[in-house]
Amino acid sequence: MSHAGTETAPDSATATAERESPEYVRLSTAAAMTLGLKPGRFYRNARLHCLNLLLTYEGGCIAKCAYCGLSGERACAEADRSFGRVDWPLHSTDEVVARLDPPPAEIERVCISMVTRKRAVEDVKTVARRIREASDLPISMLVAPTLVPHEEYGKFRAAGADRIGIAVDAATPGIFDRYRGAGVGGPHKWERYWESVVTAVGAFGEGHVGVHLIVGLGETEREMIETIQRARDLGAVTHLFSFFPEKSSSLEGRAQPEIGRYRRVQLARFLIDEKFASARQMAFDESGRITGFGFDDARLDEVVASGLPFRTSGCPGKTVVRLFTSEVEVGSCNRPYANCLPGSEIRNFPFEPDKEDIALVRAELTAAPLPASGEGRPRRTRTSHGIGNLAGWWEV
Ligand code: SF4
Repeated sequence: MSHAGTETAPDSATATAERESPEYVRLSTAAAMTLGLKPGRFYRNARLHCLNLLLTYEGGCIAKCAYCGLSGERACAEADRSFGRVDWPLHSTDEVVARLDPPPAEIERVCISMVTRKRAVEDVKTVARRIREASDLPISMLVAPTLVPHEEYGKFRAAGADRIGIAVDAATPGIFDRYRGAGVGGPHKWERYWESVVTAVGAFGEGHVGVHLIVGLGETEREMIETIQRARDLGAVTHLFSFFPEKSSSLEGRAQPEIGRYRRVQLARFLIDEKFASARQMAFDESGRITGFGFDDARLDEVVASGLPFRTSGCPGKTVVRLFTSEVEVGSCNRPYANCLPGSEIRNFPFEPDKEDIALVRAELTAAPLPASGEGRPRRTRTSHGIGNLAGWWEV
């Protein structure tokens, strides 16, 4: 691996003034570990397949999303901001580009995330072009629609991206407004995000746009599943996340959604995105909980046994799995433990779940709802791979 120009930037905690994009980027901790910029290994030897980069600016993002560690509202130093549960160490773009020439064998894609800052519209293209000089890895861009003019989507493609991610995050206009819009004095508008999905599909093609949605912001299963179907009807697919309370964000005290609820939405998402079923065929009870997946029971059992619905849903890489007569692209963007702690309740499996994992998932899918207090929560654990006293999500 060529490491020319490896000026070592501070790991994250020291001066960040003027260390901004496009000259600097943040890397997810997993990406920093994979590029050899940070020591450690993942719980259960998970391997990262998509290098997640984040544009960075003094003052962070100008938006105020209640659940996000990058929110301009959050009172913390720039270097202490987190995004999706993990720290994002700062490195020079030169250093990252050098370490991608050639890329580590397991890396199949790079994703560059914007934040809501005007400069980011140009900077995301600059960083993409820099990566393209060093490698031919496919590039995704996770864009911030509020400040992205519609004509930019074609330019993102010209700069080297083949996929676009749009983080709608909330399943309903009311929740969106409460946590991202007027409710927090933020700039985002539900309609703008969905118009941008349509524009992005027009520029990148059906199936090449991923709508990010977070389960656990107060929606019902039915609301989330209908929004997943809305994305599919528009030609996009859904990349699903489980809410995780970020330190110092306004929703720091909120609990993660019940695991059974998350599993059911994962299964419905998979059926919808793979066009095995539609939300219109699914059944729900009066509380909005799904009671029927609109899919033949025996085949549904095979879908669950495949483990595919429970793996991280994200932009694809090289792995394709055959299921029935379909070819299912497995997400290269597997973000190990980005929205859960490592342990028995892995929300998005960053690897192929084994038989024991699937047995747990089956129990979770059908578990009765927990009392609101969480009391009496059944303890479901694996008999192997126990986390012991592992404090973080990697071991040094
Ligand atoms: S799924 Fe991953 S690679 Fe694709 S846009 Fe989202 S964060 Fe980026």
